[in-house]
Amino acid sequence: MRFVFKKLPRPRYIGKTGRMGEQRRFETSPTLLGDVSGATSPASDGEVTLARLRSFLDAEEPQAVRWLVHTWNGQQAAITYAELREAVLTGSMSQAQLEKWQQDYSKLVTAQLAPQWEKAMAQAAKERLEQYPKFLYDPSVSAAQSYIQQHGAELVTNLTAEQQVAIKAMVAQVAYYDATTADSLALLIRPVIGLTKPQAKANLNYYNTTLNAIKEAHPRITQERAEAQARDKAAKYAARQQRYRAMNIARTELATAYNQGAYGATLDAQERGYIGDCKKTWLTADDERVCKECGGVEGESRNMKEMFSVGVLIPPAHPSCRCAVAYEEIAPPIPAVAGDGIHRP
Ligand SMILES: [Zn+2]
Repeated sequence: MRFVFKKLPRPRYIGKTGRMGEQRRFETSPTLLGDVSGATSPASDGEVTLARLRSFLDAEEPQAVRWLVHTWNGQQAAITYAELREAVLTGSMSQAQLEKWQQDYSKLVTAQLAPQWEKAMAQAAKERLEQYPKFLYDPSVSAAQSYIQQHGAELVTNLTAEQQVAIKAMVAQVAYYDATTADSLALLIRPVIGLTKPQAKANLNYYNTTLNAIKEAHPRITQERAEAQARDKAAKYAARQQRYRAMNIARTELATAYNQGAYGATLDAQERGYIGDCKKTWLTADDERVCKECGGVEGESRNMKEMFSVGVLIPPAHPSCRCAVAYEEIAPPIPAVAGDGIHRP
């Protein structure tokens, strides 16, 4: 599907700063997407920008979710029962296990997520600078590559560390349940591999509540059978938690890359003399998944290298944030100085 970009009057909220609580409603009308025959209300630049980000996320998120879930399922299948039991007895995962996980994440980022981020950046750059046809955005020479490399390494480290912390917390907590043996604890850990610490704790609470409910409903059930049934339910819950987390990561990472692409391309075009001084304005994703956290920053305008009031240069401001930025050229490019070596249009 192709977007039809229409140059339209600037929306009135651009340029006003931080108007708390003002509701700006719009729908993703068919005028933003594809065929404009029989178009109804015209879309503003800001609406087009937000609709483009949303459309990109809708198209790319499912794939990223599948990659993440596939990685976690692989990790769950790869760990042996003896290794899980060892973790329960020693209180944490072995160094060798952490290294294995780090390698899994490294593979996930290098082979799958990073190329997708690059795609997000290239698309955002193209959309951002389509009114400057002479400007050629090249992600391989722009700041995009260093962002991808640095952020990719951070993500690998964070995912591995979070996993270690989650398992450690779970093992520490299950140590209090004396009725449960090391063997059955080991079985509880496998499905939570890939969850965060709060998620792993929630899963364990769910397991305990379920176990009690089963024993209450069936007073003559053996402990072993009751535990097996509760474990089964907890594993199903873990699968839902895993999808939720994957969705969160996918959206946050893709929205970050997309916004980085638009911002980086604008800076790049400025540096090369295609665009003059710009201001950036925060656009809140105001749809069925309203970005409540960003309500206060909606419509806030800043200079290119100035932070928004939420403490970031560009969205996202929080996990799953789907806000975007509108850029407005407020001064013409500085005329070329002879012999400065900068190529200008
Ligand atoms: Zn937001």
